[in-house]
Amino acid sequence: MDDPAPMDATLRAHAEAARGFMPPDEGLALHDAAVAAARAVPGAPLLEVGTYCGRSTVYLGAAARATGTVVVTVDHHRGSEENQPGWEWHEPDLVDPELGVMDTLPTFRRTIFHAGLEDVVVAVVGDSPAVARWWSTPCAFVFIDGGHGEEPADVDYRCWTPHVAPGGTLAIHDVFADPADGGRPPYERIYLPAIRSGRFEETSATGSLRVLRRVA
Ligand code: SAH
Ligand code: MG
Repeated sequence: MDDPAPMDATLRAHAEAARGFMPPDEGLALHDAAVAAARAVPGAPLLEVGTYCGRSTVYLGAAARATGTVVVTVDHHRGSEENQPGWEWHEPDLVDPELGVMDTLPTFRRTIFHAGLEDVVVAVVGDSPAVARWWSTPCAFVFIDGGHGEEPADVDYRCWTPHVAPGGTLAIHDVFADPADGGRPPYERIYLPAIRSGRFEETSATGSLRVLRRVA
């Protein structure tokens, strides 16, 4: 496959300045994989599960811009288990002061505004399985980075992997084969079932990002 054009430098700076959990090297790998996938399945959208404040979305938005498609990014914006008060990845300023619950949507909107990507980023605010149930468009690229518990990972595997178009790409974040490196569900509940299904073959790995191509 042709090498993708390097990511736009301004967008790269916006991604790195945004809040979120995507390291720069993995973000660039995500961008490159999304560009290649969009070229392999022309005219199909990119889809992300797990927007948070939009850092990974900027990498995908840059890929969408470069290939003439859009990225649809799905999140209820209430945070995962590990983002809740008392958990390791909680950020107190992301709590809605009136409701007392997490709300990452305003920060996400600022990220995308500043990056100038509002024309290619489409936010869907809702629970991942509720959105997936009514989703019917084959996607060039599906990136799963939502809830990392066993049940949410299971549900995202079952709900979203059928929407990867033939020849399209499935990317999974926070995949740790060695339990010493991090939590298990993205590895055990998404990555392994995808490989074992025979539908996907791994094409690259960068940090905890795994990129798989749909082959059947
Ligand atoms: N991709 C982002 C980080 C995502 S963090 C980045 O790299 O910057 C995981 C996100 O998944 C959180 O914002 C959380 O709200 C969302 N999430 C968890 N479970 C969800 C569910 N069932 N439906 C929708 N979003 C969910
Ligand atoms: Mg992640």
